Amino acid sequence: MIYLDAAATTPVRPEVLEALWPYFSDRFGNASSQHELGHSAARALRQARESIAETLGARSSEIVFTSGGTESDNLAVKGIALANPRGKEIIVSAIEHEAVLESCDFLKRQHGFTVTFLGVDSTGRVNPDELAERISAKTALCSVMYANNEIGTVQPISECAAIARAHAVPFHTDAVQAVGWLDLAVDALGVDALTISGHKIGAPAGIGVLYRRSRLRLEPVLHGGGQERGIRSGTENVAGAVGVALAIRLAENDRFVAASAVTARRDRFIAQVLSLVPSAVLTGHPEQRLPGNASFCFPGTSGEAVLLELERRDIFCSSGSACAAGSDEASHVLLATGLSAEVAQTAVRFTFGAHITEEQLTQAAHAVDASVKAVRGLAS
Ligand code: PLP
Repeated sequence: MIYLDAAATTPVRPEVLEALWPYFSDRFGNASSQHELGHSAARALRQARESIAETLGARSSEIVFTSGGTESDNLAVKGIALANPRGKEIIVSAIEHEAVLESCDFLKRQHGFTVTFLGVDSTGRVNPDELAERISAKTALCSVMYANNEIGTVQPISECAAIARAHAVPFHTDAVQAVGWLDLAVDALGVDALTISGHKIGAPAGIGVLYRRSRLRLEPVLHGGGQERGIRSGTENVAGAVGVALAIRLAENDRFVAASAVTARRDRFIAQVLSLVPSAVLTGHPEQRLPGNASFCFPGTSGEAVLLELERRDIFCSSGSACAAGSDEASHVLLATGLSAEVAQTAVRFTFGAHITEEQLTQAAHAVDASVKAVRGLAS
């Protein structure tokens, strides 16, 4: 099996499993308990928070543990918008993950917000000038993802964040797909809130992080026991926190080497696919894209059908984002880049981490050629 669906999820790294395992068994304490088991859980939680803060160049009090990327996005978008008395307008890119888009929709339906969408060009990049034109005294929040989960396009986050800051508008970025590839230093980026998900980087599903700059007002979404400084109630997932902290640390340590090696392999894979399947269209930006993302449309096929053919050849990938998979709707991301619904429905996404080899990608490129031919009825 060749796994090319790392943007959907990743296996738990062995080091991470080893580090978090004791917190499921002999060190099972509740971090709020006033006895040694509780104290040891609280210490582990504190160390995990400090480790993440160090990687982000943040303070540990600015790190909030959540259940994953979806919750962090919900907390950032709803929490910041509802706590900000400035106005009732939110600006987001048109290609955000559903966790951001649906949170905006909720604010629109239930709280009377208006949502302004920043368009993207054919490579999936927003134009910071458009943000500068649209932002106003009514804007309560701006959210632009760091890198897109479907097409891998990386956004000019520091430029966008600088515009928001000049207008005193809080800026959130969904960095779920960026961890391990791009710089997460929150001060250099200039962001006020940043979302991370554990299971995309070798920690288990069910743990996430929201970085929230000190003094940024944020209305909690979950109410209860007041954990996480009252921002996110619920008994802490200590094992998850230990796991995601180590996964972030390992991803950051490997980042430079992984990014350059994987970029070179990705570019050879893209070139192979485009030469074997001349009608294929590369989606996303040719250079400003995640090292581990190669996404295409194969006009004249159906993405789902190509996916099944690839699986028959032991290649596991995705027809778009994991969330959109299985739905008949064309991807909002591809439509925003100007592709027709017909072409958008032929999308296939290949995503991989540092362990992918040149040989595996070559094998995958030939399987893509055979699968596209099979779907088009051209198989010999
Ligand atoms: N944001 C992006 C960009 C994603 O790719 C994903 C997952 O696909 C999420 C948010 C949601 O993260 P989680 O699966 O941890 O809820």
